[in-house]
Amino acid sequence: MENAIKEKTNDAMMIGHLIDGEIKYSSGPTQDVYNPSSGKVSKKIQLAKKETVEEAITSAQAAFPEWRNTPAAKRARVMFRFKELLEQNAEKICELIGEEHGKISHDAMGELQRGIENVEYACSAPEILKGEHSKNVGQSIDCWSEFQPLGVVAGITPFNFPAMVPMWMYPLAIVCGNCFILKPSERDPSSTLYIAELLHEAGLPKGVLNVVNGNKEAVDTLLHDPRIEAVSFVGSTPIAEYIYSTATANGKRCQALGGAKNHAIVMPDADVDNTVNQLLGAAFGSSGERCMALSVAIVVGDETGNTFISKMKEVMKNLKIGAYTDSTNDFGPLITGEHRDKVTAYIDSAEEQGATIVVDGRGIKVKGYENGFFLGATLIDNVTPNMVSYKEEIFGPVLQVVRASNMQEAMDIIDNHEYGNGTCIFTRDGEAARYFSDHIKVGMVGINIPLPVPVSYHSFGGWKRSLFGDLFAYGPDGVRFYTRRKTITQRWPSAGIREGKQFSMPTMK
Ligand code: NAD
Repeated sequence: MENAIKEKTNDAMMIGHLIDGEIKYSSGPTQDVYNPSSGKVSKKIQLAKKETVEEAITSAQAAFPEWRNTPAAKRARVMFRFKELLEQNAEKICELIGEEHGKISHDAMGELQRGIENVEYACSAPEILKGEHSKNVGQSIDCWSEFQPLGVVAGITPFNFPAMVPMWMYPLAIVCGNCFILKPSERDPSSTLYIAELLHEAGLPKGVLNVVNGNKEAVDTLLHDPRIEAVSFVGSTPIAEYIYSTATANGKRCQALGGAKNHAIVMPDADVDNTVNQLLGAAFGSSGERCMALSVAIVVGDETGNTFISKMKEVMKNLKIGAYTDSTNDFGPLITGEHRDKVTAYIDSAEEQGATIVVDGRGIKVKGYENGFFLGATLIDNVTPNMVSYKEEIFGPVLQVVRASNMQEAMDIIDNHEYGNGTCIFTRDGEAARYFSDHIKVGMVGINIPLPVPVSYHSFGGWKRSLFGDLFAYGPDGVRFYTRRKTITQRWPSAGIREGKQFSMPTMK
């Protein structure tokens, strides 16, 4: 297939859209894109008006009939080439992620690898779309179910995984035969756009994937346009709820993944050194800006709590915080100065409400990057469920410790939280772990695993107010989401045999 993109334009100062296989620039408002490590504006992004989004939908609609009829194996071959290009250009992608998001290259590489794994799953399209077949369900009658594409579908994604989260969506949607409109985060769009260009270089026909940059106006256009059949969303819970209610009120299929508060239970029999090491990365990696970030440790028993706090305090001394350009750093800045101030305000409020600040990351300065949006790792003890900092998602490098006297009390605390994305337990007791995973009201559970992000051939999603909709993202649920089942019952009677009239419900009798 012809390479639809002739020239990559992401190095330019202005970030446009990818519509009908070409980078396009529209008139209208723009917004600054920051380098969070330096705190300086690095680029500007165009914010699509309704007309630009409609142009993208028209392009996708025009591409759909031919793409739908392209054999699944050929659609998958594009994904094989895409995977190779992602690997060949990994460094460039991680540089773009680092520059606009602030995450360090080792973390960006992990994000990209997780995205690539979703492309690998999409490569199995001929297998996953085989459908179901039953021969001879009645005399000369066969019955089968096939999974047909929906048409034009949309994805709206958050800033914290600009490469991976879009790849939870469009590789699978596209191999299932749909055309896709992606609206990435306006805060760090360059890697997302660059990756979409690579997919065209891999041979994707124009119009099958369009990327429109923008904010609420672009999103609302997608939610209201009758040509959009389904919407996948990942972001904060208030917006997820809005997306889900608006999309479904407009007759669209919708899955909207929201925010989180992920708890770890540390049992008295846990290997504390190992638990502390595991939770260190899970709490502070990527500055805590992960929907699976481990933000609350519930320690069972005072002795466990005291040991945990003193060991955690010790290892936190060695954390290295700095610009994305230095790969020896453990984590980088927060996404904006405004977000850094919001996280700081949560630490202030925990202190005001009576919690103990054990390690205080407020007000740190990184040498050479004094204007960067940095916040140091913070450890807070004696947090209780009535505190604002406990109830709300902080999305920063803050680990809060809640004390409980037994496992059931710890589980009740988790079950009473409004979010139910991920959770984990650290223990040596198999029976306790089994009880926990069986009963806890959370969608993704780890047993001695702090970030239980499911692999690409399972599916990702939370419970309670962490997910609006019925189907998880990617994997088998993703295939269900991006396809519509059709069941066909067919009779080819043998020559000369004729059925008589029948007014009762047909049965096998
Ligand atoms: P966000 O909700 O602010 O933005 C997400 C997307 O929605 C962006 O593309 C944005 O442009 C758009 N948007 C924002 N406000 C809107 C509005 N009023 N109307 C229509 N569209 C709007 O989220 P964020 O700050 O980019 O990302 C962080 C959040 O995402 C956190 O809450 C995090 O937990 C969540 N998240 C969840 C998952 C998950 O799988 N559950 C994964 C990653 C991130």
